Amino acid sequence: MNLIAPKHVLDYCIIDEHDEVFKELKHSLEDDFSYVYKVRCNCGNTKFLVYSDAHPSVYAKCSLCHKMIALYDLSYYPSAVKLDKKYSLEKVQKDAVQVYVNYEYDDEYLTEDDVDFDVNDITWAKVFINENGNIKKILDDETA
Ligand SMILES: [Zn+2]
Repeated sequence: MNLIAPKHVLDYCIIDEHDEVFKELKHSLEDDFSYVYKVRCNCGNTKFLVYSDAHPSVYAKCSLCHKMIALYDLSYYPSAVKLDKKYSLEKVQKDAVQVYVNYEYDDEYLTEDDVDFDVNDITWAKVFINENGNIKKILDDETA
């Protein structure tokens, strides 16, 4: 199955049908232009410390191997403008948690023949964490 997500995060996106939080998010958010994934580090771990800044950007740091994974960074998206400004990254929560992402695309690539689909050309992104069994939204941003 082909997963559709921005290139910077695609390798860390999985579908986990045994995860109740994932299933709930998928059920409420997924459609033909909106994709929901659970985040998994390439070491196999699914627990992360999450950091954000004011651009806004969101990064997940693997609690085992400490790899930093970009979940949302405006510098990657063609329709976004990222200010040339340095904001400090703040830790979103104290403990390592499971993380879920939702990327939305414009439907024009399906209706217009001359528009090539670019996986980086997202229009909206949301990031959620599983905090003690509760789903907490930590990013809800329209890209353009
Ligand atoms: Zn890792």
